[in-house]
Amino acid sequence: MAPIPGSGLAKGLAVTLRTMTRKSVTEQYPDALPELPPRTRGVIGLFEENCTVCMLCARECPDWCIYIDSHKETVPAAAPGGRERSRNVLDRFAIDFSLCMYCGICIEVCPFDALFWSPEFEYAETDIRELTHERDKLREWMWTVPAPPALDPGAEEPKEIAAARKTAEKLAAAQAEQTAQTDSAADRAEPGEGES
Ligand code: SF4
Ligand code: SF4
Repeated sequence: MAPIPGSGLAKGLAVTLRTMTRKSVTEQYPDALPELPPRTRGVIGLFEENCTVCMLCARECPDWCIYIDSHKETVPAAAPGGRERSRNVLDRFAIDFSLCMYCGICIEVCPFDALFWSPEFEYAETDIRELTHERDKLREWMWTVPAPPALDPGAEEPKEIAAARKTAEKLAAAQAEQTAQTDSAADRAEPGEGES
């Protein structure tokens, strides 16, 4: 059956009228910033103090857009007669965000918690080369990484926090003992003062 002349136009106008009466969902960016979930995949931050240069992230990245350079350094033996050790020192860590597809694999595979998602997304550039963020820039993103969600009240204390707390307690106890020893040495010295 042949279409009624003008029915297409009527349909189009009906859609226009229907849409006109609905609330607009357009965000007026950049005047109005979008309300993003806190775990939004915006940019990747590098906590380089945790990075051991194991290269796992660079190897697993499907886009090969993580560039790492390093060299080996020899660390002297901790005790006399001990063995020297060698460790990797990071020279370069960069991510090319013009290639990155935000899959998050690098963050998932990092065994040392050195990579994190930040919700920051305002880093568009007019020069594509500027989208390769070097280690300093990646380190700066760490300040925008949201704090981890609170633990379940019934959960065990994470072992990293327990270990850090024990170390802090030991240090505080050693400091208190040292202060007490200094005070008692000063007390013992006092009676002698002024005697001739
Ligand atoms: S998010 Fe995915 S693509 Fe981007 S750097 Fe990490 S592994 Fe590579
Ligand atoms: S996986 Fe983690 S520790 Fe290993 S090189 Fe990448 S960021 Fe560094």
